[in-house]
Amino acid sequence: MRQDNLIDGAWVRADSGRTLEVLDPATDLPVGSVPAMGVAETRRAVDAASGAFPAWAARPVEARAATLVDLSARMAAKRAGLAALMTAEQGKPLAEAQAEVDYARSFFDVAAAAIHTLEDEHPEVPGKSVRVHRRPVGVAVAITPWNFPLAMLAKKVAPALAVGCTQIVKPAEQTPLSAIAFAEIAIEAGVPAGVLNLLTGDPAPIAETLLEDPRVRKLSFTGSTEVGRLLMRGGATNLLRLSLELGGHAPLLVFEDADLDSAVRIAMAAKYRNGGQTCICPNRFLVHASIHDAFVAALAEASAALVSGVGTRPEVDLGPMIDDAAIEKVEAHVTDAIRCGATLVTGGGRRRVAGATNRFHEPTVLTGCTAEMRCWREETFGPVCPVRAFRDDDEAIALANDSEYGLASYAITSDPGRIERLGLELRTGVVGINDPGPAVAAVPFGGVRHSGFGREGGRWGLEEYLETVAVSRVDA
Ligand code: NAD
Repeated sequence: MRQDNLIDGAWVRADSGRTLEVLDPATDLPVGSVPAMGVAETRRAVDAASGAFPAWAARPVEARAATLVDLSARMAAKRAGLAALMTAEQGKPLAEAQAEVDYARSFFDVAAAAIHTLEDEHPEVPGKSVRVHRRPVGVAVAITPWNFPLAMLAKKVAPALAVGCTQIVKPAEQTPLSAIAFAEIAIEAGVPAGVLNLLTGDPAPIAETLLEDPRVRKLSFTGSTEVGRLLMRGGATNLLRLSLELGGHAPLLVFEDADLDSAVRIAMAAKYRNGGQTCICPNRFLVHASIHDAFVAALAEASAALVSGVGTRPEVDLGPMIDDAAIEKVEAHVTDAIRCGATLVTGGGRRRVAGATNRFHEPTVLTGCTAEMRCWREETFGPVCPVRAFRDDDEAIALANDSEYGLASYAITSDPGRIERLGLELRTGVVGINDPGPAVAAVPFGGVRHSGFGREGGRWGLEEYLETVAVSRVDA
C-alpha cells in the first residue's frame, strides 16, 4: 500500500521525515502512516500545479474526458481494495464502502459527459457581436473530510480536471490512505505530472500556505461550518473563489398520508448511513401527530435491530464513531436531551462490541424533542433520531426551517400540492421527497445559509471551476 504524497508526478515524503499515524477507529490497530507535510512542500505543490496548468488547460476536451473515463474504469477494477481500505481507516461497513466507490466513480463519468454540454453563448445586443465563453480558473485546492474519503474527493477532482484546472488535494488526517490510493489510480490513468497533487499532514500550515499563494485561484472545502468560516476569512486576501460544503441539520417530515412501512424504510436508510456521520443525515424527525406513536414504535424497533461491529463483518449495519470526541458528543447530546425532558424510546448509550474499541453508540430514538435541546439545534453526527410531533403543514415547515443550517431536507408524502409547496418553501439546497438518497452525481448538491454555498455534481459542479469571459465586438 502506497503511503507517500504526490507532488509533480513524484511520490514523496515530508522534508522533516515526520509522519502521522492512521488508526482503524473500530480496533485502534494501525492502518498506515502518511507524511506530515509543511510549508516548503506545500509551495512545491503549488509550483507543480501552476506549471502544469497551461498544458492541461490546452489539452482537447475529448482527451481530458477520456482520462476521466479511464480513471473511473480503473477505480471499478480496484473496487474491492479501495473499499477495504476505506473501511479500515474510516470504519463504515464494507457494503457502504463499496457503494461509495461506485458513487465516487460516477462523478468522473458525469463530469466527462457534462464537459461537452458547455458551449459558447451569443447574447443578442444591437450593433454588437458578443461571444461569452468560459475558461478554467487555474490552480484549485480541495480540502475534504473523513466521513466520505473517496466521494468527497471525487466531487472536487472530477469537475476541476474536466474543465482544465490543476489541483492540490488535502484529505482529512483520519482518512488519507484512500486519497493516496485514488491518486495512484489517477497517475495510472494518465493524469500528467503536476495536474493532481496530494498533501497530507496538519491542516493549518498547509491551508495557510495555500491561501497566501496568489497562484491558487479556487478553494473547494467540505467539512465543518467552523473551519469553513476560517477558510473564507483566509481566502479574502487573494479574493479566492470558494465552494463551501458545510455542516447540515436535516429535518425529515413524515406527513399523515405516509405509508408507515415506507416511511420507516426511508427514515432508516437516510439516518443510519455511515452510522449517522453523514452531512445530509436527518437529525430532526417531524411527524404528524396522528401517526407519531405508530411511526416512533416502528422506527425504534427497526433501530434496535441494527447490528453494530467492525465494518468487515458482513452482518454489520453500524460501524464505530470516528474518534473519542465524536462518541462523547453523541453521548452529550443524548444526556442533554433527557435532562431537558425528552423521552428515551430505545438506545441511549454505548454498545460493547467484542474485540473492538469503545466507540460504538446504540441507535437511539428520543421523543418530545424541543429547540432547547442541543440535538435539535446542533449536528449530532451519530445514530440518534430526535422526534417531535406537528399538527399541520404550516407548523411542520416552520419547524423544519427553524435552523441556521440549510443543506438537505426530506419529506414523506404523496400529496402533489404539498410536494410542490415543500420544494418551494423548505430552505435547503437539497429536498428529498420519499427519497432517502437525493445526492447523486448528475444532480446539483450543496447548501444554503450556514451550510455554505456552491454546488457539486453535473454541469453545476463544473461551473464552480470556470470563469466567464464576455468578448464584445463592434465592427470598426
Ligand atoms: P472538519 O472541518 O474538522 O475537517 C474537514 C477538513 O478540514 C479536513 O481535511 C481537516 O483536516 C481540515 N481542517 C481542519 N482544520 C483546518 C484548518 N484550521 N485549516 C484548514 N483546514 C482544516 O470537519 P470533519 O469533522 O472532518 O467533517 C465533518 C463535518 O463535515 C460535518 O460538519 C459535516 O456535516 C461536514 N460535511 C459536509 C458535507 C457537505 O457536502 N456539505 C459533506 C460531508 C461532511
